[in-house]
Amino acid sequence: MARRHTEAVTFRSTPNSIRRVLTGTRETELARGELPALDRATIHPYVDARPGPVYYQREAHPVGLEAERVLGDLDGGQALLFSSGSGATTALILALLGPGATVAVADGGYYGTFALLDVELARWGLNVVAFDQTGEPPNADLVWLEPCANPMMSFPDLDAAIASAHASGALVAVDNTVLSPVLLRPLEHGADFVLHSATKILAGHHDALLGAVVCARAEDHARLHAFRTASGIVAAPDPAWLMLRGVKTLALRVARQSASALELARRLGAHPAVERVRYPGLGDPVAARYVEAFGPLLSFEVAGAGAATRVERSLELIENATSLGGVASTLEARARWEPERVAPGLLRLSVGLEDVDDLWADLARALDALG
Ligand code: PLP
Repeated sequence: MARRHTEAVTFRSTPNSIRRVLTGTRETELARGELPALDRATIHPYVDARPGPVYYQREAHPVGLEAERVLGDLDGGQALLFSSGSGATTALILALLGPGATVAVADGGYYGTFALLDVELARWGLNVVAFDQTGEPPNADLVWLEPCANPMMSFPDLDAAIASAHASGALVAVDNTVLSPVLLRPLEHGADFVLHSATKILAGHHDALLGAVVCARAEDHARLHAFRTASGIVAAPDPAWLMLRGVKTLALRVARQSASALELARRLGAHPAVERVRYPGLGDPVAARYVEAFGPLLSFEVAGAGAATRVERSLELIENATSLGGVASTLEARARWEPERVAPGLLRLSVGLEDVDDLWADLARALDALG
């Protein structure tokens, strides 16, 4: 289905579940403008000598359950929180696959996902292959897609890739960290799982480490929940509470960050010191079929490692820091982490909530100084 294109996500275009969270018609404490009490108890009394729905924090806790209800609503599935995005990935692989299984991972996506699978989990019998997610996925037991891949910004044809993976018997997980359910709901395209590093745009303020998996099917949710309880890869109440607070402004943050990112991508593309800009909003026809705005993340290239370091050192407003999706803009040369994969001059920029002209002034001054 062709999507209407706007410079920004309009409030009207956000899904009902998000609108309800924002406008307060959802019948929860969250909707009434409150947040559930930050209950840090590790134990809850049995009810009539039987464990109730909440009895020990490793299994479930009240704030986590509420955060999972809200995220499940937004994504259209059943959510489970984990201690980080990487923890969520670990749990998903270990709970749903076995030794000898093959995972096909989108190349150009988050390098930590490939490293986790290829370095750590391969020792336990996992096979890992990287593939170009703009084409057909190879044969595998699980296909791992990442729209607006961090940092290479590729975008898969989700419907085609998911149909092809399913036809060959594979499960499909979509890492939707960058776009969030405001812009893309992969379960509606047939994905089996959505993964979020909720550390990023869901919590949104660079103050919570958190991950989530949203499952399409109740039996996968039950399996993953059992694994989470057994393994202890669980989220504490505090980051779950921060995510609940962050979600109240999610649609507004996504709209503003996407609009600013598009504007900066255009201006960067016209600057003589910039060799290449990667942002699906600059005319990726496949991405344009799936989303009406393109999120906060973009990459651009300057002439080599020296130039990239000079940009990093001369920025004053934009933080020279890793991570993405928060209210403060962050930029870093990715070659320090993944030199085998990215150009030495590739800079990844996550656009925050600052004034777009102030952001551009900061970038333009740093780029002009490259001569
Ligand atoms: N997925 C993506 C796209 C990421 O960018 C990251 C972290 O940068 C992760 C997953 C892992 O998340 P976390 O840092 O919360 O473990």
